[in-house]
Parts: sequence; C-alpha cells; structure tokens
Amino acid sequence: MTMRRGACPTLSAPMKTGDGLLARIAPAHGALTPEKLAGIARAARRHGNGILEVTARGKLQIRGLTAESAPLFATEITALDLGPVDGFAVEAGPLAPAQPLAERINAHVAERGYAALLAPKVSVTVDEGGALHLDAISADIKLVALGDGSWLIGLGGNGATAHWLGSGDEQAVGAVALTVLDLLAQTGGRARDFTQAQKDALRTGLDPSAEYPARADSAPVGRFALEGGESALGIALPFGQIAAEALIALCEVASDARDIRLAPRSGLFLTGLQEPRQRELFRAAEALGFATDGHDPRLSIAACAGAPACASARFDAKALAAEAAAAGLPDGPFRLHLSACEKGCAQPAGPVVNLIAAESCCTLSSVGTKPSERLRTFLIQRGETLRAALLRKSG
Ligand code: SF4
Repeated sequence: MTMRRGACPTLSAPMKTGDGLLARIAPAHGALTPEKLAGIARAARRHGNGILEVTARGKLQIRGLTAESAPLFATEITALDLGPVDGFAVEAGPLAPAQPLAERINAHVAERGYAALLAPKVSVTVDEGGALHLDAISADIKLVALGDGSWLIGLGGNGATAHWLGSGDEQAVGAVALTVLDLLAQTGGRARDFTQAQKDALRTGLDPSAEYPARADSAPVGRFALEGGESALGIALPFGQIAAEALIALCEVASDARDIRLAPRSGLFLTGLQEPRQRELFRAAEALGFATDGHDPRLSIAACAGAPACASARFDAKALAAEAAAAGLPDGPFRLHLSACEKGCAQPAGPVVNLIAAESCCTLSSVGTKPSERLRTFLIQRGETLRAALLRKSG
C-alpha cells in the first residue's frame, strides 16, 4: 500500500494525507450508474471519514481511510465491478462521444505496456471543444479539435501555457502523439522537459500556422445539449467536496438517471433524464448542498485540501472558501485560489487572485486581474486569523 515517489493515489495504493489515507478512482469515461456511485459513497462512509471529492480534473477521491480500512474499502469497490479505475487513460470531455483518437492512444499505451514505464503523472487530453472544453487542464500532450476536421497538438501545459507544435488531420497529430508517448516511455520523463530540438523534430508534417482557440471558461453547471437531442444536467460539488450522505441521497433520488459522469471542475453530469425530471433533480441537488447555479460564488473559488486534511496546511482552506462565498466573494470575473501552504495545490487557470499561506504570513498575488480593496482586506484578515488559530492549536 506504499506509493512510489511522485505517484498518484490509487485504490490499491492510497496516499497519506493529514486526515488519513486518500484513494482516487477514475472509472472509464468517468461514468458510473447511480447505484454504483452510491455503492462507492456507502463504502466511503463505512471505511473513510465520509468525505468524497471530485477533483478539478474530474477524478473521484475518498478521504480518511486508515491502514486497516483501506484494503476493506478496496475489496468493496472491486466487488462493485466498475472496470478499470486507475492507470493511464486519455482524458476527454465528460459529455464527448467516444473519440477514435483517444482510443488509438489508449490502445498504443496498453499494447506496449507503457503504463509501467511512463512517469506517474503523464497525461493526455483529447478535447473536442464546446462549452466543456479542457483548456484549464494541464497535460503532457494536448489535442484540441479545431472544428474543421483538423486537430492542434501541444505539449506540457494547459490551454494558455502548452507549447503548441502545430495542426494536422487526425492521422497526423495522432502519429505525433504516439511518438511523444514513445519518447516519454523510453525516458520516464515529462513532455515539458523536451529540448527545442526534440520539439522541432516533432513539428515535421504539421501546419505551424494554426492558432490555439482561446475560449471562455465555463462551470459544469446547468443543462448541456448532447448528440441526438438529449441533454445532461450538470451540478457541482462546492469546493470539490461533498459528504457521503448527500451523495448517496443524490444517487437515490436520481436512480432513474442512465449514468452520473464525473467532470472537471468538480462536476457531476446526470444523463438520460427528461426535462421535468431534470428540474426536480436540480431542486433536490440544491437542497442537498450541491452547486446548481452557474453564478454560485462557490464555483469561482478553488481551495486546496487545507487543514485538517493536509498535514502541511497552515489554515483551513475550505472554511475560508465558505466564508468568502458567504460574503459574496470573489467580486469580479476571476477565480479565487486559496492555498494553505507554498505548494499552491488547486491552482486554477485564467485570471486569478491567490492567497497562499507562508511560514510567517499569508501572501496575496494576482494574475490577469486586480483584487478589490474589499477582497484584499477580507483575505488577509481572515487568512491570518485562521493561520494564527492553527499555529496556536499545533503549538
Ligand atoms: S497547498 Fe499545501 S496545504 Fe494545500 S493541499 Fe497542497 S500541500 Fe496541502
């Protein structure tokens, strides 16, 4: 049950955190039936501390397991027969249909046994665009549909920071992606560390003139159209967390949904429901504490695990996030990022105001925006108060 350094937590190798062991589950296409998701939540309540998370990348996390309970939890999850729940898998939009490009990459990795050779955090996104694009998600290889049948390929970053190599048809960019994976498997490295010469060699045959299609960020909340005239209902976990009881209750009330899909930005999509049922479920989800309104300030705050969940934390980031949201903050078109130590976990993309707890104080910074005086004052005062309270407790 020990993890290799830099590895991601899994079901069989959970990660030690401040509130016990943390297991991560990533079912195929992020889709679970309501019954199976409820089964996971019940097992989390029995064996963990009853808190579940959907991460910014759309992975399910179970907190507060112990050395004794983690194997029991894993046995119960295995009995749910979810299929593969960890290992390498291309990340795609939560509502996107199966994409041949993603399947080709997954097959290449599986056939060559690359899962054991690639660095633990190597990732690939295949992004068909639309409202639920994957711009905010960093990946070693980013593939973005340009809408005219061609694809853009970039390395080592998110939509704003990736090194874009160029565009080509599906066959051409797929071949480049497989070559990148071959290189990464040979070295155990990351694409962000490629030399300029390596990047130049990978550009061969691609069109260098294509530009990255900058797109507005959109929370996974509301009604989203699917192929065939259907729609999916999107709700989100406030600050990425929910109590097992609330998730179980949601699954029970939504037992007629075809599936519930995990989505980036801590979202859940309920599919297979007609409009009247969607309206009922929106109300039920709101009553259970889920975010159901795209303007909910909680959707604009990214808080790291914080205290007590993380042993490195210098304040309770989720409590500060809740206080900020209750005060109607953030008060502008940007995200607020709360990080309880210098590591800066949960950093969102785009315009952002960051509050980071350092050893001797909290530091405020911003990218692409400027915090109002009200926000500055609130964050520094409350951040320092929470930091001092934790210091007193641990001292
Ligand atoms: S930023 Fe620091 S305190 Fe917050 S989750 Fe990461 S390591 Fe823990």
